Amino acid sequence: MTFLNSKLLKLNRLILFLALTATILTFVSSFYSNYEVQKEQLISQAIEVNRAYANKLSDTTEVFLTSTLQQLAYSANSINDKMSDQATLTEEANRLKYQTDSFNSVVISDASGLAKAASPETLDIVGKKLTSLGVREAQEEKTNLISSPYVSTLKNLIVFISSPIFSSDGTYRGFLGGSIYLKSPNILSDILGEHHYKNGSYIYVIDANKQILYHPDQARIGTFFDNDEGIDDVLASKGGGMMLESVKGVPMLAGYSVIPSTGWIVITQSPLESTLLPLTGIMEKVVLRTLPLAFGVFLFIWLFARAISRPLQQLAEKARSLDSPTVNEDIENIRSWYVESLGLKRAMLSGVKVIQSQIGELKRDAETDPLTGVSNRRAFQIKLKQLELLDMPFAILALDIDYFKRINDTFGHSVGDEVLKHQANILKHFTRDGDMVARTGGEEFILVLKEITLDEAYSIAERLRVAISDEKFDVVGNITVSIGVAEWFADCGANVSETLSAADQALYEAKGQGRNRSIVAETCACI
Ligand code: GH3
Ligand code: MG
Ligand code: MG
Repeated sequence: MTFLNSKLLKLNRLILFLALTATILTFVSSFYSNYEVQKEQLISQAIEVNRAYANKLSDTTEVFLTSTLQQLAYSANSINDKMSDQATLTEEANRLKYQTDSFNSVVISDASGLAKAASPETLDIVGKKLTSLGVREAQEEKTNLISSPYVSTLKNLIVFISSPIFSSDGTYRGFLGGSIYLKSPNILSDILGEHHYKNGSYIYVIDANKQILYHPDQARIGTFFDNDEGIDDVLASKGGGMMLESVKGVPMLAGYSVIPSTGWIVITQSPLESTLLPLTGIMEKVVLRTLPLAFGVFLFIWLFARAISRPLQQLAEKARSLDSPTVNEDIENIRSWYVESLGLKRAMLSGVKVIQSQIGELKRDAETDPLTGVSNRRAFQIKLKQLELLDMPFAILALDIDYFKRINDTFGHSVGDEVLKHQANILKHFTRDGDMVARTGGEEFILVLKEITLDEAYSIAERLRVAISDEKFDVVGNITVSIGVAEWFADCGANVSETLSAADQALYEAKGQGRNRSIVAETCACI
């Protein structure tokens, strides 16, 4: 049973380990999934906010461009028959320039591309031939037009918005157009610049060629994105949101929306890092709220597992003390509340019963004379010791069959055996509960008779002797015995082995005096 005390893991520790592991795993996995869900939610929220904002800005820009084109068309119509009226053209150009903030400059050109009027006058292009890309486009298309960005004659990066001028008879008379200088403060930066650039969020606008038309970092206006997969994905769709990397390699959450009339794309984006900032606080709250539950789960698992292990532990404990006299009762009292432990308990109980009955049998065998069924010398010695310990007075009758050798010689050994058995039965009749008949040698028997005086013992010895001599033994007929009698009591003065020797001595004397008689040994009388 030493393994129970060895360094093997104890059930209690295993349970504690199980409870802790289960709780920690549950807690960590719930924390992790919570973290992932919260993170995904924050990301999709940020993308959605950016997308909505990009939508709003693209709508606003679209409204501005449409109304600007309307304004130009109206104006073109109002001067269509006054293309030679220099004053009117100049006034109209100034009005368009100064009445609204829509343009950085305005020009009115004739069909050949000659500038007829311009505002502000500082441009100094009136009377000069206009050759820039926007102008050529306007001349060729002869329709309301928003140009692609290009570098003008005066080296400005501009977008040119123009409307054709047709005279009343439908003849093409030129165009009227306004420029937005992308690199100077302009109407687009006014519209888009309202955005508050907090947490590193910002807006920019690109065209279909990935050229930046608006950016809070002015230096980047006019530059191109190249080989940027994220931007290609943005260009490929009409609007939406996604995770991008900024040119500096910072992960960004972007929303974007296309301005229908130009195909430009408004992109609003915010850094992933700032979006995820609240996550720490959220997760702290999650931990704080989950901890009591985790503790509760731990406690529950621990207590429940302990309750499961308790009967097993108790049974194991009892298995270590199977020799205890109360082991049966102790095992019975163990609360086996589930099937397996009950099975174990029953198995142990029946095991204990089998062991106990086997031990009983062995004990009986060890203390019994196999031929006659009476006690053997070993049991007799134990009996003497017990009586001595209990201070119980007793008498000993040492008995020997006379001339037994002759019986054996005359009738055979097996007949001798039958005589021994028969005689043992007679001896048993002369004993009460607590007395003992023992066969201590070949044809020698001893009777231990407790709580009896020496006189009484002598008279029993005599009755016994007579009874045996009167008995008819099969085959053999009559036999006689000699008996030595001795007594022992607490204040006898002699010990039990001396009493036994005295009885033997008395028996020897009986033999000497001619056999078939009882002799009393005066063991204690001398004290
Ligand atoms: P005494 O009157 O002096 O006692 O003479 P005795 O012949 O009885 O004594 P002795 O001690 O000389 O002989 C005892 C005999 O008992 C010897 C032996 O053969 C016999 N004997 C011993 N054990 C057994 C046994 O188990 N069965 C049988 N049949 N005989 C036994
Ligand atoms: Mg003998
Ligand atoms: Mg004999």
